[in-house]
Amino acid sequence: MNRTKSEIIYKEATEHIVGGVNSPSRGYHAVGGGAPTVMDRAKGAYFWDVDGNKYIDYLAAYGPIVTGHAHPHITKAVTHAAETGLLYGTPTRHEVKFAKMLKEAMPKMDKVRFVNSGTEAVMTTIRVARAYTNRTKIMKFAGCYHGHSDLVLVAAGSGPATLGTPDSAGVPNSIAKEVITIPFNNPEAYKEAMEKWGHEVACVLVEPIVGNFGIVEPNEGFLELVHELAADKGALIVYDEVITAFRFHYGGAQDMLGLTPDLTALGKVIGGGLPIGAYGGKQEIMEQVAPLGPAYQAGTMAGNPASMLAGIACLEVLQTEGVYEEMDRLGTMLEEGILQSAKKHGVTLTTNRLGGALTLFFTDEKVENYEQAEATDGEVFGKFFKLLLKNGINIAPSKYEAWFLTTEHTEDDIKETISAVDKSFEELSAT
Ligand code: PMP
Repeated sequence: MNRTKSEIIYKEATEHIVGGVNSPSRGYHAVGGGAPTVMDRAKGAYFWDVDGNKYIDYLAAYGPIVTGHAHPHITKAVTHAAETGLLYGTPTRHEVKFAKMLKEAMPKMDKVRFVNSGTEAVMTTIRVARAYTNRTKIMKFAGCYHGHSDLVLVAAGSGPATLGTPDSAGVPNSIAKEVITIPFNNPEAYKEAMEKWGHEVACVLVEPIVGNFGIVEPNEGFLELVHELAADKGALIVYDEVITAFRFHYGGAQDMLGLTPDLTALGKVIGGGLPIGAYGGKQEIMEQVAPLGPAYQAGTMAGNPASMLAGIACLEVLQTEGVYEEMDRLGTMLEEGILQSAKKHGVTLTTNRLGGALTLFFTDEKVENYEQAEATDGEVFGKFFKLLLKNGINIAPSKYEAWFLTTEHTEDDIKETISAVDKSFEELSAT
């Protein structure tokens, strides 16, 4: 495969853009290095790179692209936005329509506010929770990613009942001390941490179905316990549904799981490919937010017409009967095909899948928490990633990410992907 142009452009990128990428996860450092593939255009389930190579895409831009690239309904909406003015700085009808759509899809949310990214959405839910409870500490789970604001770039301390340490330079110790990080799916650790800190905790922040150390579902009863003990101690529950909302079904993981958080952070899919974030929750709590209440949050770009119209169009496509069932059917087919091929070639592999989202872990252990995901074989993943790319399949360059199907992937795409995986496993076994 010729990748000359990708290499030239990436080299130039490193001269002008820090690290050559605008988000660290786009680099290939976690998969053995090299120039990341520079994409030129995308349509439906496919990507073409600057050298003219075609790929079936499962990156889906790290989640937002659920209706495939350049979906005509979304393209039409964005074109309309461009023709009628991209940014007003005034209220628009579109914001109201979209807020109503989100509330209909996630009926436990009384009020919504639009922001521009998942990072902003989560950051603000924490502020609102702190304002409402008049407490400062937060609790979160190891390996869950909640954007790049200071409070969520904090690593676990030495045990569940210890305070955190900065996970990034520039995050002060004084902030890390406000955060308790505990293992996901570990009721004992959660109980211990809640016993010690619960009365000081403003909110427990959780990805209800984890997307950031692979797809990991909560074990039976775990989330219920998270809710129960938080309520006992007067801490709010914040669901980070930046990945999960509208990914597995029309609405949030909260509807699927039958649980009601106090606040929810949204992003990714709800923008149909344009920058967006949103947060929402119970009336009484959302009334903390300015101009009604004392918790300040604002945004020049918030609720901009293009993101609103793209989001509305994306949700309209997702209202089509059977789209989630079809992604689940194709996801099952993909998972089964990959597992069979791994067996055939003697590749040690475990998969976690929910609907059209699938993670491949190079291990024979079940993966239920971050520690287990971390222990999977990253070197083999790196080799597999490169082989897969050469064989025409684009996935995220990280062992922790999911493969995301879209409504545009077809059965033929899945068959072609399984063949490419089979070839890649064969080549992997020969190395
Ligand atoms: N929360 C979760 C669960 C995410 O996966 C991400 C992004 N991967 C974020 C928050 C941050 O969103 P953004 O990149 O839009 O700031």
